[in-house]
Amino acid sequence: MDTARERVQANVARSSAGDRSWELYGNSFCPCGWRLATYTNRRRKNGATWYVYACSRRRHDKTDCSHARYYRAADLEERVRRFVVSLVEEPGVIGEQIRLHADRQAEGQIRTLLKHEGSLKERRERYLEQYAGG
Ligand SMILES: [Zn+2]
Repeated sequence: MDTARERVQANVARSSAGDRSWELYGNSFCPCGWRLATYTNRRRKNGATWYVYACSRRRHDKTDCSHARYYRAADLEERVRRFVVSLVEEPGVIGEQIRLHADRQAEGQIRTLLKHEGSLKERRERYLEQYAGG
């Protein structure tokens, strides 16, 4: 059990060597659907640096997002890390996700087949109209 957690922690420690590495960069989204962008803010007073993820909606279409204005980077990354560890430690969760994914894929395949069947029926009817009807 500890090994999964240790592996995730070790992986993170390695990737954040040197300058700050944005672990969720490019892979995190605001509930409104826009990607979360990274922002670094240096406070002039005490020199402290703020790292946050924030919705990029405003950057794109100049409208405000109704969700959280920003997420402190360390907090959000820790939440995701805990979630990943919980996935690894509870095999049932992964199994459930795989089953859901398979169900969605099967649904997509069924839809595609039904569409194909529909177009075959149309072709058949056109054929019958052209050759059998006239
Ligand atoms: Zn948003």
